Amino acid sequence: MNGTSEIFRDSIGTITDKGSRNWIFARKPEGRLYNARTIVSIVYLFIFFTLPWIKVNGEPLFMLNFIQRKFILVGVIFWPQDFFVFVIGMLTFLVFIVLFTVVYGRIFCGWVCPQTIFMEMIFRKIEYWIDGNSEKQKALAKSAWNGNKIFRRSAKFIAFFLMSFIIANYFMAYLIGMDHVLQYMKQGIVAHLDVFIPLVAFTSVFFFVYWWFREQVCLIVCPYGRLQGVMMDPNSIVVAYDYVRGEPRGKVKKEEPAKLGDCVDCKMCVQVCPTGIDIRYGTQLECINCTACIDACDSVMDHIHRPKGLIRYASENNIAKGERLKMTPRTYAYSAVLVILLTVLGILLFTRKDIQATVMRVQGMLYQEQANDKISNLYNIKLINKTRKDLPVTLKVEDGDLKGEIKTVGNELIVKRESLGDGVFFIMADKQNVRHRKNAIKIGVYSGGRKIEEVKTNFMGPGSR
Ligand code: SF4
Ligand code: SF4
Repeated sequence: MNGTSEIFRDSIGTITDKGSRNWIFARKPEGRLYNARTIVSIVYLFIFFTLPWIKVNGEPLFMLNFIQRKFILVGVIFWPQDFFVFVIGMLTFLVFIVLFTVVYGRIFCGWVCPQTIFMEMIFRKIEYWIDGNSEKQKALAKSAWNGNKIFRRSAKFIAFFLMSFIIANYFMAYLIGMDHVLQYMKQGIVAHLDVFIPLVAFTSVFFFVYWWFREQVCLIVCPYGRLQGVMMDPNSIVVAYDYVRGEPRGKVKKEEPAKLGDCVDCKMCVQVCPTGIDIRYGTQLECINCTACIDACDSVMDHIHRPKGLIRYASENNIAKGERLKMTPRTYAYSAVLVILLTVLGILLFTRKDIQATVMRVQGMLYQEQANDKISNLYNIKLINKTRKDLPVTLKVEDGDLKGEIKTVGNELIVKRESLGDGVFFIMADKQNVRHRKNAIKIGVYSGGRKIEEVKTNFMGPGSR
């Protein structure tokens, strides 16, 4: 990007030449953007730890219960029958992420990705608190096992494990609801092995990730990180080093200041980087846009009385040619797809029914001749009640010609909240009104005097015409 050798792209900063792990001891970031990210993370964590406690009519505000296939988003229950809404919703979200990345690079990773928030704003802060800043951490890692090291490692282990356990509990609450999680706490783990086993698994995974695996999640596992290369172009905004202004880099010398750029080669930007890269080589796969290097370099620039922003949010074209952010054909195309998907999603959500009914004639029966010159057909009805209240349901034949009358078999149709219900009913009609062998009819489904659904079916008769 800036003409320097591209050899650095042959390997990642967290792996040594011999293939072993190069442990990153990132210096604690300080500065304007780190403070802003801390505020964002406080709001984020407040929402994360509060949402599972919020209920709407006795149900969680958010729940993604894959086992029972029950999904609640912002208080609205989605059923497997609403799967297409879910698919369009996920597609819309994906296109939004791609579009956002094309324009703003990996801002998502640095500011709101759960992995970054938990790692940098919870576990890393605990680590700084127990082990001290990067220099102390390096010294502790090198030191022999003594009282101090055993104490600090134990304290960190307990703190990391507890935090992983708490996060795992909340994670479970998002999957099965906070009520279930509280139930298992009250009734004990033996009575709830179905909750306990996944809880142990999640706690172990979180602990492993934050204790040891860390930035490797972003570098090796995260598919979003690995797709950056295809999503970004020279107009994407990324955390970038202004090599036009910074090069040639070198220590400040009073004798020949004019020959050097603004980078004083202090390597503060490298020392704070949690993924261990040197952003001065250009945009790299490992950069999670955490902005720590911007803060570090700004404080250096402040110190040497040069303008801030040697490392800043900028596009390659902004740095190389001084161009401002501009929309490319690709951006327009993604925006158009996003608008279409949002429209489809809006229509699907707007027309989504709280009650879904399916009516089918009972198989193997055509029609029955009744007394008083009447014809009857027998039907099955299946109802899905997606609402949070029991719904008594009445049925009515809507078409005028047939003048059919509905007689329900058994008790009144009541569909329990968030349940499936079924029933059997007859439609009786005067023989003289049944003009065809197959008569298309519409049945209205009513609850509380309000028509909530209309279904089409056929009424079979002897067929005089
Ligand atoms: S912090 Fe700034 S001045 Fe120091 S090495 Fe990095 S880019 Fe150069
Ligand atoms: S290069 Fe800068 S923004 Fe990118 S990960 Fe490292 S410190 Fe964060």
